[in-house]
Amino acid sequence: MAEDYSPNTTSNIAAGLWGPYLLGQNAEKLCRTWAQATHDYFHSLWIGGQADQCGICLVPVLEVSGHHEPTPWWHDIVFGFQRLSPESLQQLTNEHKPIKDYATGFTYSTFTCEPTKLMNFYHHVLMMQTNVSFHKKKLSTMKCVDNLDTDENTLIINCFGLGAKTFSDDPDLTPIRGQVRKIETPGIFHSFSNDYCYIIPNTDSITLGGTKQYSTDTRVCPLDRNSIRKNCEMVVPSLQHATLVKDVVGLRPLRSTGVRLQMESFHGFSGRKTILHNYGHGGAGISLAWGCAGAVVQLIEQWENNFEDVQSKL
Ligand SMILES: Cc1cc2nc3c(=O)[nH]c(=O)nc-3n(C[C@H](O)[C@H](O)[C@H](O)COP(=O)(O)OP(=O)(O)OC[C@H]3O[C@@H](n4cnc5c(N)ncnc54)[C@H](O)[C@@H]3O)c2cc1C
Repeated sequence: MAEDYSPNTTSNIAAGLWGPYLLGQNAEKLCRTWAQATHDYFHSLWIGGQADQCGICLVPVLEVSGHHEPTPWWHDIVFGFQRLSPESLQQLTNEHKPIKDYATGFTYSTFTCEPTKLMNFYHHVLMMQTNVSFHKKKLSTMKCVDNLDTDENTLIINCFGLGAKTFSDDPDLTPIRGQVRKIETPGIFHSFSNDYCYIIPNTDSITLGGTKQYSTDTRVCPLDRNSIRKNCEMVVPSLQHATLVKDVVGLRPLRSTGVRLQMESFHGFSGRKTILHNYGHGGAGISLAWGCAGAVVQLIEQWENNFEDVQSKL
């Protein structure tokens, strides 16, 4: 049950480059488990011949910055992680002419997972099951769960992204506005980012980004559009000849206290209701998706066991 489905979700806007970071109060160990599981999953789809259906690509990444950065905690999850030498940083600085000379650079290979393709794949898989159905419906608050025709055995999983702010009445959730430009151009097969922009290739288009602003405005801003173009063209001048597919804006569901993966029960008019929350993935929702889904499955198994214990004691 969702207010809307693909292609009208935040996930559809993401280029889907695997690139986790620590969220709120989530421990590094936990983020690492989720991130590693997701990377392993993308890898298994890629080697298993499902890359095309699921939108998985293995891409080389070049990441540079004008700041001195430590080696990231996820360096041993990606393939072939290396720090750039001072000579390479100088060469890239001469080429791109950033405001601040590059001080740090990493190269490695990792996966992009295009959410639109992966969601379409799973939608198709689920439609083949006889006991699965999709309903378009908004649940404004947790109280709305009371109006659903469910009994105490029903578990509701809340993956509402930013919608969880009102549904769960969660003040920790904040929208981080991301405007990006989807283009078509031949010959770009590697991902690049610096302090001003990023270029991420997908199978049918390339995503140029982007903004990170505290805002709920989902309209395309012409100023952002121009700065994304200008900054990306500084790095790859040939992008000025690219064909525009669309400019688009999404709101990242950032939660100051980290991803919420937790069970919650309440007594409604129609009995006890249990909700399993899984939201607040900020700008790393694609990078953590499979790992968090695994944690959801574990929580469901625990809940089922507890439920059986209670039932057998009655
Ligand atoms: C520009 C941009 C670029 C990004 N790039 C990357 C990237 O490269 N790598 C990466 O890992 N992450 C990236 N992200 C972050 C990633 O997109 C998000 O973390 C992720 O999409 C969150 O997924 P979600 O399923 O929680 O939310 P959503 O995709 O927003 O899905 C929420 C679903 O819940 C439904 N819903 C919401 N409220 C309700 C309600 N009250 N009742 C019923 N249904 C409801 C919605 O209709 C929707 O179907 C990017 C984000 C943006 C904006």
